[in-house]
This record gives sequence, C-alpha cells and structure tokens, in this order.
Amino acid sequence: MKTVYLDNNATTQVATEVLEAMLPFFRDLYGNPSSMHFFGGQVARKIRAAREQMAALIGAIPEEIIFTSCGTESDNAAIRSALATNPNRRHIVISRVEHPAVKSLGMDLVRHGYRVTELPIDKEGLLDLEQYEKSLTPDTAVVSLMWANNETGVLFPVEKAAEIARDRGILFHTDAVQAVGKIPIVMKTNAIDMLSLSGHKLHAPKGIGVLYVRKGTKYNPFLIGGHQEKQRRGGTENTPSIIGLGKACELAAQNMETENTKVKGLRDKLEVELLSRIPNSRVNGDVLHRLPNTTNISFEFVEGEGILLLMDEHGICASSGSACTSGSLQPSHVLRAMGVPFTMAHGSIRFSLSVYTTEAEIDFVIKKLPPIIERLRSMSPYWHPGEPACAPE
Ligand code: PLP
Repeated sequence: MKTVYLDNNATTQVATEVLEAMLPFFRDLYGNPSSMHFFGGQVARKIRAAREQMAALIGAIPEEIIFTSCGTESDNAAIRSALATNPNRRHIVISRVEHPAVKSLGMDLVRHGYRVTELPIDKEGLLDLEQYEKSLTPDTAVVSLMWANNETGVLFPVEKAAEIARDRGILFHTDAVQAVGKIPIVMKTNAIDMLSLSGHKLHAPKGIGVLYVRKGTKYNPFLIGGHQEKQRRGGTENTPSIIGLGKACELAAQNMETENTKVKGLRDKLEVELLSRIPNSRVNGDVLHRLPNTTNISFEFVEGEGILLLMDEHGICASSGSACTSGSLQPSHVLRAMGVPFTMAHGSIRFSLSVYTTEAEIDFVIKKLPPIIERLRSMSPYWHPGEPACAPE
C-alpha cells in the first residue's frame, strides 16, 4: 500500500539532498569542531557555512543564529532568557493557542510565581491587536506569540505585535516553527527579538532547532556548559544535523515559490472538493491569513479518530488536533479557543501538505474520504441529514 503523507506539520520527510549533505559528517568528517587540529577545523568551517545558509533563509546575520536541539528547547530558552535578563518583571503574555512548548512552560512559570496572560482569539483564530496592546504592563518581561498555528495554519500579525512591544520596551519572541520555510521572513526589517524554529518541519532531521537572537539583545543561556555557540548553548554541536539544516534552508529558500503556488493550489483543490462532496463540513480558521500548506476541516457528527483510522486503511496519514495532543479525546485547545461547536470540533482533521505532495495523492484523498465520512455518519446516533443539529453543544 502506498503512503499518502499529509501530516507535514507533525514532521516532514528528510530531503534526499539533505541526507546526502549529512552523510560525510558521520563517516569521514567526524571531528569535533572545537578541536585545534585541522580535522576538527574543517568541520567548524562547514558549520559556519550552514549558519550562513540558515541566516539567509530568515534574513538574519549568522551570529544571530544559535543551534539548539529542537523547537521546544528554543521556545524554553527564549522565554527563560527574557525572564532572567529582566529579573524585576514577573509578567508574560502568550496566546491561548500556543503549542505546548510555550503553553506548558507558561503553566510551569505560574507555579513559580509568574503571572501569565493568555490572549483569546476570535472564531477565525485571529488575534485582536487592541486587546493585545491592553495586556502589556510595565511588569511585562516578554511576549511570546506564534507566527503560524500548527493546527489551523492561521498567521498572527507578529511583526506588528513586535513593534508594539518594542515601543513599550518589552522583549518579543515568536515561535515560528511552522512558519519558517513556508512564508517569507526577513528579520532585518522587523522588530522581533527572538525566533524559534525546528529542523524537522522543513525537511531536515529531528533533533535540530534554532533560536534566533537579535544582535544586541541580552541573552542568558539555557544550557550552560562549554564555549559552543559563543557560550550561548553548551554541548558539542550536532554536526550532521546542523549541516542538514543548512541544506534544508537552502532548499526552502528555493522552494518558497513552489510552496506558495503548487502546494497552495493542491491544498485549495483538496479543500474545495471535500467541502463540495461532503455535507456539513467546514474549514476551521481564517482562510486568507494562513499557511499555504495547511487546512483544518471539520466533518460534523463524526469522531476525528474514526476518520483517521479508516483513512489509515488506505495509507492516508493526517492528524486530528496537533500531533502532540492527539491521543487525548478532548477536542484540541486551539479549536476550543476558537469556539468551534462540539459536534464540529470532534470531527476535525488537519491535512498538511509539502512540496513532495502530488496531485495524484490529493485526488486519491478526494475519492476515498467522502465514503469514509458517509460510513461513519451512518453509525452516528446524531446524524439526521436535513434535520437541525440535535447533539449536545
Ligand atoms: N512549536 C510549534 C508551533 C510546533 O508545531 C512544534 C512541533 O509540533 C513545536 C513548537 C515543537 O518543536 P519540536 O518538535 O522541534 O520540539
């Protein structure tokens, strides 16, 4: 059975070019980049080149790039550094729909005496900038808002929000794990102080991330150890993955155009066809301000888990809620924050495409999914076509 992989917001396939770029660093170029000898020195030079590739993708300068182990580490490092460098401030602003890498950290910080404001979003998943502005106080140490939501793809106006924070002398961090490589980002021209990204969301391996820290921003390291990363992140460099991430960034820069035309075209086709073939279905999230590769669709009166299981029988991989929260039967915190009705939220599926998604795969899903929904609805006590909804809200 062929796999149709439409779960690229959970993780992506490592690009062949990325893998090939990495292999010599396991076999031949295995020196420690900190070593004094030439064998390590040549690895250090390659890491410098990867840092330049990384910086180029987000319009930054290489010294602003700190390699980490993942997006979660970058998020934690950014927020904890902001608190450590502003010890007199005890307030943090995030949104209700942040990834657990930020949301759970916020809960932990509350247990340690910090005050955390979780900004609500509207029913389209959008942020109200006026409300955001009102939430900032002289006690606010840092704002952390995601650039793109992992479940709906909805984009927050982080550049505008960062300007507002800067005017108030407040540090601004964005979790751009889902945005980097999919939409243009130019750090040179915005006011964002720190940005997190993760390699495995853009066709590099798992276990490599980046924290961007704007030049001149005070930074307190999360991992204290050796002098690596200019003493901003201790630990011997994950050389093969850093090299792979550099290559992935080069490819992402080249593929951005494709992402915005071919991938978006396929996503739109999938969406339009499914909505027209399946009654009582709808897209969750603002359709104008979102990533080109993501659609989150609710099929009323069915369970997302049931849909996933039946799609799985055809080799179709997608996700209900985020990869990290599916496993729980609660509708996702993102859909709940958007006020998506109970009967819709339970039957929501996230399809996330990549540059490797083909039209034949999309056509396959368009063919297979309507009968799956029909079959599940025929077993649902709540599904009475033509009658008003009767399930509990
Ligand atoms: N932030 C967002 C928006 C994500 O989607 C994810 C992963 O799904 C993360 C952070 C965590 O990244 P990592 O898996 O590299 O720790």
